Amino acid sequence: MGTSYPLMRIPAVQAPPMIEEHLDAAERDALKARIKAQLQAQDAVLVAHYYTSAELQDLAEETGGCVSDSLEMARFGHAHAASTIVVAGVRFMGETAKILNPEKRVLMIDPAAECSLDLNCPADAFIPFCDAHPERTVVVYSNTSAAVKARADWVVTSGIAARIVCHLHERGEKILWAPDRHLGRYVQRVTGADMLLWEGSCVVHEAFRADALKQLMGQHPEAAVLVHPESPESVIALADVVGSTTQLIDAVRDLPNASFIVATDNGIFHKMKAAAPGKLILEAPTAGEGATCTSCAHCPWMAMNGLRKLAAVLETGAGEVRIDEAVRVQAVRSITRMLDFAAAERRRAA
Ligand code: SF4
Repeated sequence: MGTSYPLMRIPAVQAPPMIEEHLDAAERDALKARIKAQLQAQDAVLVAHYYTSAELQDLAEETGGCVSDSLEMARFGHAHAASTIVVAGVRFMGETAKILNPEKRVLMIDPAAECSLDLNCPADAFIPFCDAHPERTVVVYSNTSAAVKARADWVVTSGIAARIVCHLHERGEKILWAPDRHLGRYVQRVTGADMLLWEGSCVVHEAFRADALKQLMGQHPEAAVLVHPESPESVIALADVVGSTTQLIDAVRDLPNASFIVATDNGIFHKMKAAAPGKLILEAPTAGEGATCTSCAHCPWMAMNGLRKLAAVLETGAGEVRIDEAVRVQAVRSITRMLDFAAAERRRAA
């Protein structure tokens, strides 16, 4: 069974207030024109995460960039000829892009955009914890800093985590997992591996509530329930599909259901609606609306990305991601293991 490590020394993460950008049509058009001109002038490509605004997602695609999960964002930036990658997302995504693309300039729309999982797992607490458990293979989720990735043996995304842990378990390895405790418990249940869990969590996914979800399921008995595994165990237990952002979008497109209840950041709805026009997409309930949730199904750090800041970053060159080369070299090793594992899986399936 998995065991947990109580984070006595780590303060609770305070999410920033939700501040979304409000622009009138003329401002929006003017900003988009400036951004498009700058992307071209600076040989830059915009890569956006599924949780950013619909406007940024559309702009990324209109200008030849991509909308995806964090790893695909980095891979896309690597394969693209542009010498500058502009990241619409949060800090660990910019760092991952830089780790995999050291020769390119990587800009963040807002370098202060964090992630509660990354903040929950500071390297100066995590590294001694790993050192205290040398018998365990260190597996970290992609939502971590470059320094934490550098200490890990493996980096995994939510889409591949269970398969990699299963592989390590079959080799007889014991796992030290960080930072998301819900994803860690889910992987532990699926694989049966011996996992020591760090106690981090995502402020967005942790707010989903099983009781309220059951009520909504009662009102929409035909709806398939799609849940990201950063959600609490009681919510995962109600899911028809548990998966990464990309897997959940695929489920909306591929399942025959006409309606879905979705427990992940509602920024993803933009891509889900595009993938399956006409299907009904409902937000899974949080503690929200007059109650206690701080995120209410949208990440306050992702909301820090906007058109005004994007134009300013391109015009000033501010927000460049820099990583110590020794840290980068260590971090790329643990990410490459995952990429090689995924490539070997694809070869076997071909
Ligand atoms: S939604 Fe959660 S996991 Fe994703 S960036 Fe925001 S805090 Fe991090």
